[in-house]
Amino acid sequence: MALLVQKYGGTSVGSIERIEAVAQRIKKCREQGNDLVVVVSAMSGETNRLLGLAAQLDENACEREKDVLVSTGEQVTIALLTIALQKIGCPAVSMTGDQLRMHTDGAHGKARITKVDDAPVHAYLKAGNVVVVAGFQGRAEDNSITTLGRGGSDTTAVAIAAVLKADECQIYTDVDGVYTTDPRVEPRARRLDQITFEEMLEMASLGAKVLQIRSVEFAGKYNVPLRVLSSFEEDSQGTLITYERKKMEAAVISGIAFMRDTASLTILGVPDKPAIAATLLDPIGHAHIDVDMIVQNSIGDGTADFTFTVQSSDYKKAYELLEESARTLGARSVHGNDRIAKLSIVGVGMMNHPGIARKMFDTLGQEGINMQLISTSEIKVSVIVDEKYLELGVRALHRAFELENIAKEEKF
Ligand code: ASP
Ligand code: MG
Repeated sequence: MALLVQKYGGTSVGSIERIEAVAQRIKKCREQGNDLVVVVSAMSGETNRLLGLAAQLDENACEREKDVLVSTGEQVTIALLTIALQKIGCPAVSMTGDQLRMHTDGAHGKARITKVDDAPVHAYLKAGNVVVVAGFQGRAEDNSITTLGRGGSDTTAVAIAAVLKADECQIYTDVDGVYTTDPRVEPRARRLDQITFEEMLEMASLGAKVLQIRSVEFAGKYNVPLRVLSSFEEDSQGTLITYERKKMEAAVISGIAFMRDTASLTILGVPDKPAIAATLLDPIGHAHIDVDMIVQNSIGDGTADFTFTVQSSDYKKAYELLEESARTLGARSVHGNDRIAKLSIVGVGMMNHPGIARKMFDTLGQEGINMQLISTSEIKVSVIVDEKYLELGVRALHRAFELENIAKEEKF
């Protein structure tokens, strides 16, 4: 007997038939003796449809009212799913974010959860109900309705699992887990049985398609075991995300992550003085541009060279800001390249295995792929390559690290 929080995404509740199928699944799970809190998204396409209606009236519609509007999507699904459950004899009750007292800050459209009250849910559970909760929505201190950002129902589910100290938070979606890499790039990609929170965060570029990355941070912070699995398959085990790796001799590398939409900027010949990096990055930060990799280099001749990467969509703005800094500081020149991509190998196993980076560089070298930047952490190595070699690089690394065998190895 366990306390489970399950979350069903938009495609899993995308039609009346799908809602009925989900209800059957929930009923079965409850009959196995589990207590269940079920968080749902809006039916697929609904959030976009509602935002489209607002945009027809005003492209810059007020964020507060947009939250009132889009939160209705989830309210529809909690009612429909509860009706479907009751119809098949499974006691259930629905709750909106407000009824649940899901407190958030006031940042409409991207609110952060500040506090969740577990008492109302507990009361309903104790009375024998499946509690069906509207994802994505909360309530700010001024009583206005808020939403948690696109894909935010995942975070709702994790937050509830955290306060209830649930045994597991299960995210049901239309894929059956987290893969060693994107199967559209490498068809031999395999589903991982397990992955750690740290790895999952590093694999954000892959994972983001599966679940909201903020929910992974949240789950890591409160140590909520998180499982991603398919609502379209009967016996899907999915991928379990936790702190420990249960299988000791798991593979050294868990996955190959990549990001296409990245750009690099370089400033050459900046006066080599303390705080130069801060001076260059301050205006970038003020413009709300996220910086990813950073490399600074000086050989002691009084000048330094500085390179960093940003998302492609921020490239133009970042370039302008850097040119301005170059003028003020009297730097030699500014260069940029937005035809690059980031390629990373990720795995907690590499901590105890020297030579992993070397193997990555060898593999790319043999394919004739030049690396423009390298950065490493304890559990990943990232390189910047020309975007046209991205797919080739992913496949070569997947092969070199034998990731097509990973599921077999993990069965030990
Ligand atoms: N319905 C919201 C969205 O489409 C939240 C969610 O699905 O998690 O982003
Ligand atoms: Mg989602």
